[in-house]
Amino acid sequence: MPLKAPFDALKAWLVDMDGVLYHGKRPMPAAAEFIQALQESRTPFIFLTNNATRTPAEYVQRLGEMGIRVDEDAIFTSALATARYVREHYPPPRRILVIGGNGIRAALQDEGYALVDRADDAELVVSAMDIEANYARCAEATLAIRGGAPWVQTNPDRTFPSEQGIVPGAGAIQAFLEAATDQTPVVIGKPQPGIFRQALAILGAQPEETVMLGDRLETDILGAHRAGLKTICVLTGIANRAQTEAYNPRPDWIIEDLRALLAKPKPFPD
Ligand SMILES: [Mg+2]
Repeated sequence: MPLKAPFDALKAWLVDMDGVLYHGKRPMPAAAEFIQALQESRTPFIFLTNNATRTPAEYVQRLGEMGIRVDEDAIFTSALATARYVREHYPPPRRILVIGGNGIRAALQDEGYALVDRADDAELVVSAMDIEANYARCAEATLAIRGGAPWVQTNPDRTFPSEQGIVPGAGAIQAFLEAATDQTPVVIGKPQPGIFRQALAILGAQPEETVMLGDRLETDILGAHRAGLKTICVLTGIANRAQTEAYNPRPDWIIEDLRALLAKPKPFPD
């Protein structure tokens, strides 16, 4: 089923995943059909997620289980963007203390960094959402930051849309460390412009002909607007209609769910 007007005229798509394509393991209505429509019309797209907990390979598998078949290079996470930033500003070899899951750990190791557990060994601290974060690890990160280690945060999302509801996100860990260190990190993910620039470069797309499809106003919509992209807010995730309509910048389009992007199948001619 093709995309419907005016969405079929957009030349390239950045697509958020959590709250847009799925909640947890539950796919959203028409998620697979929407991605298929992009693929069939050969419209360039990339999944742009602030979620740094998984590797591209893990995403490919998880999406595949929902009937969405893409290659690893269709996935761009704040973990990958963070690893690129760290490589540019603090070239390897260096020892990094990470609070975060597989996604950010693998991205940093792939760039040639050694991961350490103790503040005394750490030259840099990178923090992200970590479902196994504990007090001891946060204490080591605090000691390292207080000792002068630069601090980089993958993404600012304070909350995370899970199958159970809204739970603490990466920004909650950031807030914990800010309270403990009296410092603020360099933050990489949406709404920062760098991750949009990196994603557009991967697609070879210009901002004004590209759209960001997301569910969160202060990251997806604000960041894309600042980067000069068009924006679609879908109401299946974090933002509700009242918040979205009151938000400045207002998204270019507000849709209930992904079915609103698809054309109705054409009836057979008589
Ligand atoms: Mg989202």
